[in-house]
Amino acid sequence: MLTPSEVATQCRALGGVARTAELRARGASRHCLRLAVRDGSIERLRQGFYALPDISATRRAAIMHGGILGCASAAEAAGLWVMPFAGVHVWLTPTGHERAHDDCACVVHWSEALAFRRNRAVMTVPLALEQMAYCLGKEAFFVALESALHQHKISAEEISSLRALLPHGFDELFRLATVSAESGLESIMRYRLSLHGITVRGQISIPTVGRVDFVIDGWLIVEADGKGNHEGPEQRHRDHLRDAHAAALGYDTLRFDYALIMYDWPSVEAAILGRLRARAGRVVAG
Ligand SMILES: [Zn+2]
Ligand SMILES: [Zn+2]
Repeated sequence: MLTPSEVATQCRALGGVARTAELRARGASRHCLRLAVRDGSIERLRQGFYALPDISATRRAAIMHGGILGCASAAEAAGLWVMPFAGVHVWLTPTGHERAHDDCACVVHWSEALAFRRNRAVMTVPLALEQMAYCLGKEAFFVALESALHQHKISAEEISSLRALLPHGFDELFRLATVSAESGLESIMRYRLSLHGITVRGQISIPTVGRVDFVIDGWLIVEADGKGNHEGPEQRHRDHLRDAHAAALGYDTLRFDYALIMYDWPSVEAAILGRLRARAGRVVAG
């Protein structure tokens, strides 16, 4: 017989949320489960679902709603970088039932998801991406896809299955995606500039300058400063020095931060397109 803390350990090993059958298979009898719930080691969220008390509010909401985390919520829970989105995205199979619960802000995905389904309480990354493609569109999908590639959370085989499942319009995104994007901002830049036919090379090492986020057209460096506390005078000094070294080699540098890229893209886009046009000699000042 398992003690309540051993039941909690099994639940943690299963990802923090477990179905009754999974815990039973690991030696927790119904009596053990009752004791562990009474003792507070685990919670019974609804029939057939147990969880550790410290699971996130979004995961709890999805289960209370009758499903599990899906789409962007599942991608976020898996550690992928995702664009800001509203609500808790919940996956229910066609035989599932929605349930009322407090503070419901759920966006429900009904899907059979045969291709990737596992009998688990945690969704797989490929399925989360598949749902994102239909729910949130190309840009959100692309950003999460690059994050999954960079973190090695999707295999080559899973990529080809996913590609086969999605409409042809998504093919270009698989061609565009790289494993090198270190932040969502980089992915957003690559995606949005690709809409103008602009190809950017990412994470390029330049002698005396170091590694830069992007180089466009062989001469325009674009840096996406999204790494948080990046703002001190020392960092600014280092950035200026890098820009000076880059200028000495004939590069031009544009820097943008998280707020600009996320919330004022037209300014970022105008700056990049303006520089490219000016270099091409097609702009007359004034
Ligand atoms: Zn969704
Ligand atoms: Zn809900």
